[in-house]
Amino acid sequence: MISVEQAKLAISGQIPEPKVEVENIRTALGCMTSRAIESPIDLPPFNQSAMDGYALGGHDPISPGAIFNVIGEVSAGSESVFELGSGQAVRIFTGAAVPETAQAVVMQEQTVREGDTIEILQPLKTGANIRQRGEEIRRGQIALEKHTLLNPAALGFLSGLGLTAVEVYAKPIIGILATGDELTTPGQPLKPGHIYESNAAMLAAAMEQNGFPVAEINRVEDLAEATVEKLRGLADRADLILVSGGISVGDYDHVENAMEQIGVQTVFHKVNQKPGKPLFFGRRDRKLFFGLPGNPAAALTSLYEYALPAARLMSGRQDAFLKAETHRAKNEFHKKGDRAQFLKARVTEDGVHILEHQSSAMLRSFAGANALVYVPASQQSIAPGDEVECHLLPGMD
Ligand code: AMP
Ligand code: MG
Repeated sequence: MISVEQAKLAISGQIPEPKVEVENIRTALGCMTSRAIESPIDLPPFNQSAMDGYALGGHDPISPGAIFNVIGEVSAGSESVFELGSGQAVRIFTGAAVPETAQAVVMQEQTVREGDTIEILQPLKTGANIRQRGEEIRRGQIALEKHTLLNPAALGFLSGLGLTAVEVYAKPIIGILATGDELTTPGQPLKPGHIYESNAAMLAAAMEQNGFPVAEINRVEDLAEATVEKLRGLADRADLILVSGGISVGDYDHVENAMEQIGVQTVFHKVNQKPGKPLFFGRRDRKLFFGLPGNPAAALTSLYEYALPAARLMSGRQDAFLKAETHRAKNEFHKKGDRAQFLKARVTEDGVHILEHQSSAMLRSFAGANALVYVPASQQSIAPGDEVECHLLPGMD
């Protein structure tokens, strides 16, 4: 059985070369740029007023007491052109084009106006309150490097350069298959011996919250043939396939066999960890397959630790695994057995709290968790005050 570290390395080693596509700015959130983007324009495109005030013509020096004649007005968006002679000024507003002949803009609060003249109240440097053409970026300069994660600010920046589309790495499309004869769909009357199916919505939500589109959520009973057929169909329509349950060694666990039947190469099956020991990972050409344990907390832990990073790697991201931080434990924990363990936990300002209900079947405390504490295989217990490795759950405050 391989270790957590070996499993993560094995995943990193199986990532297919991401495809490149042109994505509209409106749908590019969370994508990675696949090449450097050059600015097509100077930004700002012209000398721009940073204030509401007056653009001042030549007058040396501009010191308190200087008087200017106001000869016109330039509002934002206006195309008016003025030649400012010595001692002349125009009324100007934030964002408006500053006349070429202006040497500074004075804030209106630092002037006194009487009729068509203004008096300057404060000393002013040449160029004051003027955003110079191209001061943010010049045409032809690199606006965003290759491998930049497109966040809202980046999308705003590209829009400000007039761009409507951007070359990115394609994100993998997710397909989900939940197995189990004992599962009743929520909303239906619970049958005897059944529990409600909880993994499909949870796994889909975790992927979607992290920006990965879920194409399909499917259900299958514990039947060998049906499992093969459902998996085959899903593998045609998705790039990253998550199967929940049926990956252990029970008589009704058909997933490993179904993976084999549709040509998935096993990369690993079983990891020395708790929860999630039965975890399966395989590949078929450009598609990756996870067999997640059915127990809900084990399934979600495996998604965060392995499947989400795999999706991120497939989309060209390099910092794919959960962000790790060290925090002091607030409470103690004693491990049973010698597997590495992931504990539902909550990081707060005064340390990390290891939560109740650590069972792999229970989601109750996971709902309030914002981190997983990683206890390596070699460590047996945690005492209050010990520094522990916390893997932060994305999107969980
Ligand atoms: P399995 O991995 O199929 O052996 O399932 C392990 C445990 O997880 C069993 O108790 C199942 O009933 C439970 N389980 C499996 N799939 C789901 C699911 N989609 N929702 C809730 N519980 C599940
Ligand atoms: Mg099952």
